[in-house]
Amino acid sequence: MADTAESGGIELRGLTKLFKVGRRTITALDDVSLHTPEGRFLSLLGPSGCGKSTILRIAAGLEQPTAGESVINGLTPRELRREHALGIAFQDSALLPWRSVAANIRLPLEVAGVRPDPGAIEELIRLVGLDGFEKAKPAQLSGGMRQRVSIARSLVVKPSVLLLDEPFGALDDMTRQRMNIELQRILAEKPATTLMVTHGIAEAVFLSDYVAVMSARPGRIVEVVEIDLPRPRTPEITRTAEFHAYHDRLSALLFDSESSRETVEA
Ligand code: ADP
Ligand code: MG
Repeated sequence: MADTAESGGIELRGLTKLFKVGRRTITALDDVSLHTPEGRFLSLLGPSGCGKSTILRIAAGLEQPTAGESVINGLTPRELRREHALGIAFQDSALLPWRSVAANIRLPLEVAGVRPDPGAIEELIRLVGLDGFEKAKPAQLSGGMRQRVSIARSLVVKPSVLLLDEPFGALDDMTRQRMNIELQRILAEKPATTLMVTHGIAEAVFLSDYVAVMSARPGRIVEVVEIDLPRPRTPEITRTAEFHAYHDRLSALLFDSESSRETVEA
């Protein structure tokens, strides 16, 4: 990935993060480095507690690394935020309960002081399959629907960098697959350098150009697997031998990284 014409997507260099908990120090991340070309899709896969969300929070500027740096599309977390280049959807949809679906989706534009293009909010609502719910409040929606509002909200600034933390984790399989296809379509139309945390191996293979597998705490990168499958990817691709081969390889890497923790903690 030294190709200069393609450099400058995700550049995580030597990220280390220590947390002090009482008198103990937890090493959440230990020298994590990752590089992808601009506009590509990278997934993080790893056992619970290995530091995936911490990486995203550092990339978003919500957490400071103890050492190392995060630069995406040539911008530091602070610059990404200042230029409204960042779309974020986290695990917990974190919608404002007193605002309607449409008003929640519009929020990042209001914060940025940008007027939405005519029809843009309606288009996003349609995109995530929430027609008819424009005026609904979060409490009137199912968890899956709230998560879809959160995805729409992350896309409203037309981000050049997208950070997603298990965005579809709470959805049923059918909805999740549909969202995966929609997300792929959206990114084909408007490419963004994307970093997604997921527990779903199939989801990671389906969406990603690269999948980074992490070890249990302290989080380290075990291996980065390039997913060389043609795009656009269709549901049929998930039934091919190539897809299964990637799935098996990632499962094996993940299993090894999880069992290494048992040895350490035994
Ligand atoms: P993951 O997203 O992979 O499940 P996290 O990034 O949330 O993991 O957490 C990594 C490790 O750091 C965990 O052991 C977690 O308990 C710890 N951790 C995360 N945030 C904090 C915090 N604010 N204070 C103390 N420990 C934290
Ligand atoms: Mg997490």
